[in-house]
Amino acid sequence: MNFNIAVIPGDGIGPEIVREARKVLDKVASVYGHTFNYTEVLMGGVSIDACGVPLSDEALETAKKSDAVLLGAVGGKVGVDKWYELPPNLRPEAGLLAIRKGLGLFANLRPAYLYNELKGACPLKEEVADKGFDMIIVRELTGGLYFGARKTEEVDGVMTATDTLTYNENEIRRIAIKAFEIAMKRRKNVISVDKANVLDSSRLWKKVVTEVSKDYPEVTLSHMLVDNCAMQLVKDPAQFDVVLTENMFGDILSDEASMITGSIGMLSSASLGSGSLGLYEPSHGSAPDIAGTNKANPIATILSASMMLRYSFNLDKEADAVDNAVREVIADGIRTIDLMSDGMKLVSCTEMGDEIANRIK
Ligand code: NAD
Repeated sequence: MNFNIAVIPGDGIGPEIVREARKVLDKVASVYGHTFNYTEVLMGGVSIDACGVPLSDEALETAKKSDAVLLGAVGGKVGVDKWYELPPNLRPEAGLLAIRKGLGLFANLRPAYLYNELKGACPLKEEVADKGFDMIIVRELTGGLYFGARKTEEVDGVMTATDTLTYNENEIRRIAIKAFEIAMKRRKNVISVDKANVLDSSRLWKKVVTEVSKDYPEVTLSHMLVDNCAMQLVKDPAQFDVVLTENMFGDILSDEASMITGSIGMLSSASLGSGSLGLYEPSHGSAPDIAGTNKANPIATILSASMMLRYSFNLDKEADAVDNAVREVIADGIRTIDLMSDGMKLVSCTEMGDEIANRIK
């Protein structure tokens, strides 16, 4: 099959890690008989330098016309890079908000997986880490508290601030459908997280998610209160497969889930809209401190490319091949500097890309 991928290398380590992800995708294309056409798009600091804005209209149009977007990272060092002398809406990171909005992305997917060989980096108790975990947090991205009406005013002489948490049933239904579709590709278990004992928005959330679940009889649905979920993530993370939740709860829980994996260079992410077009990027930033040194770990970006194969192109077999190649590399003791420990083989960013590409079967 033939797919058009908009590639955004961005700033810092972005070009290095995206190059390795393309290397792996090219190997997938040759082994499985696909064609991936890449169009490079400028975003972030490099776009400010070239066009004066962090994301130009033409760049967004190119992204919109593609089948998927693969992003490295954007941004530099505050106080060092001249981009940060610009107003906030013209800084590199504004490109991220603009592309997410422009592509209509409302579902954020953050997997958290504990590799057996990297258990030493997991901050949880040994008996908890020993059980391992493999979950994906599906977070609503465009509604809730972060987008509701807000105001700060004086009420009876006292400064008072108000934020509103609003969801309508359509917003809940579309993210619930995404979560159930994802569960169908995994272990068929959805835990929907809310605060239905207190919040009206959560009660509507629970009702709509339960309705949607009727269309997915193979998937087991259960509900969990957000405070309990925060505890369960550190007590028994192995119980989670797909965690479905609203914007603010997801913001907090996805960072908690990332932390328990213990390795920032391994964390992929995806943002999806109503069609198959998605934006795929590592969870980490542009790591300006190591940019240009060929030391970055490209695995988060390579695993993001794997999510692109799975969720935008529906190429599950090919995505499995990438995930397995990463698992093999880790099991074979091959490490970039961020994961290095005694007895392991240290490789550069380029070499890590080669090692993974060579294991695509
Ligand atoms: P960061 O994630 O870039 O780096 C944090 C630390 O982790 C650094 O020490 C870095 O060297 C290390 N690190 C990150 N990714 C790594 C990798 N793949 N391999 C090895 N080590 C890695 O976070 P930060 O330092 O807070 O931010 C740096 C820049 O990135 C800022 O300009 C920030 O705004 C931007 N940022 C961009 C995105 C994005 O593009 N989506 C996300 C977060 C931060």
